[in-house]
Amino acid sequence: MTIRPTPFPAIEELAPYAPGLSIEEIRQRNNLTSVIKLASNENPLGVSPLAQNAINNNAASVFRYPRGGNPALAAALAKLHNVAPENIAIGNGSDEIIDLLIRIFASDSNAEILCFEPCFSIYPIQAAINGTKVVKIPLNPDFSFDLEGMLAAASPETRLVFITTPDNPSGYAPPLERVRSFAEALAKKAPGALLVIDEAYADFANDEKAVSLLANGIYPENTAFLRTFSKSYGLAGLRLGYAVLPSRLAGYYWRARLPFSVNLLVEAAGLAALEDGAFRETTLKTVREGRAYLAEQLTALGCRVWPSSANFLMFRLPENTLSAAEAHERLLKAGIIIRALKSYNLPEYLRVSVGNKRENRIFISELAKILASSPRKPAL
Ligand SMILES: *Cc1c(COP(=O)(O)O)cnc(C)c1O
Repeated sequence: MTIRPTPFPAIEELAPYAPGLSIEEIRQRNNLTSVIKLASNENPLGVSPLAQNAINNNAASVFRYPRGGNPALAAALAKLHNVAPENIAIGNGSDEIIDLLIRIFASDSNAEILCFEPCFSIYPIQAAINGTKVVKIPLNPDFSFDLEGMLAAASPETRLVFITTPDNPSGYAPPLERVRSFAEALAKKAPGALLVIDEAYADFANDEKAVSLLANGIYPENTAFLRTFSKSYGLAGLRLGYAVLPSRLAGYYWRARLPFSVNLLVEAAGLAALEDGAFRETTLKTVREGRAYLAEQLTALGCRVWPSSANFLMFRLPENTLSAAEAHERLLKAGIIIRALKSYNLPEYLRVSVGNKRENRIFISELAKILASSPRKPAL
């Protein structure tokens, strides 16, 4: 018997998104009592207590639909970024916003999106699901941005241009002036294109204003910024992200979004997280200090570490020792989950999220043990 329903061809070819491994998976697989997860760039301090209270306090209200358009949250975010509420789009994680921007602006048959290679995989995956052509511009060998190459690739068919700063998985942040002149040049060359600057990690930089055009408030009209509550606000499991963008474009977004994709508890928790300045300050301090500690310790172990403005570090193991895949597997056996970057086409690279002090210390000491116990391969 033939099964008749057939997906859109792009769906058939799609490799599913490869998320970081979960704590439960690794605990069961290796029969461990405790597992440290430094794989998905989550908040090392957990959840803001104010956000937890907000969830508890609103639990009895979940029989109600949320208000359409999340107006209270939009107002709070507008105030935070010194823009009008009409410039805010809110989504079920930035992922929903990325998906909808592609569907709204890049669905016609000629449409193309531009992104770097490698990049955050959601951009090309959601484009593929939508049947949108993806033009990938290779990063420079040092993981800096070839913005000239990206500008050269822009054409009348370019609808969206994605750049991530600080970047994932490298942590690289281009100089602000370069991003600004790129945005201006793009507006001239491809006036129909929207530049989407994903600033999911911008607040972790030692100086946010040095890496974020949004924080500086100076950028051309063709720009949308993405921010998320998944990292510094500690709400990854709830799913909450937002964009700051021109009001006309935000209007299209709200028309296209499912009316209640950001639910009542999420909105309450998001509002409370914005109020919890103390939690955020401690988070940012913990990440900046932990990042410096990990960079220093990894370097001392002979690893090559890329400079990072985000809450993670990309690194390579010393030459002539075990492979990244072997080290990753041995860390898993020791109950430590980091991110192998095979899915980014970087099989010899690893990425570790900055944890709390204890987690960082245990990760370094386990990695040191693994490196010390692995016989050196003879140099070729
Ligand atoms: C983590 C991350 C996000 C956040 O996605 P959410 O859907 O908001 O959890 C966005 N962009 C990049 C590059 C990320 O790494």
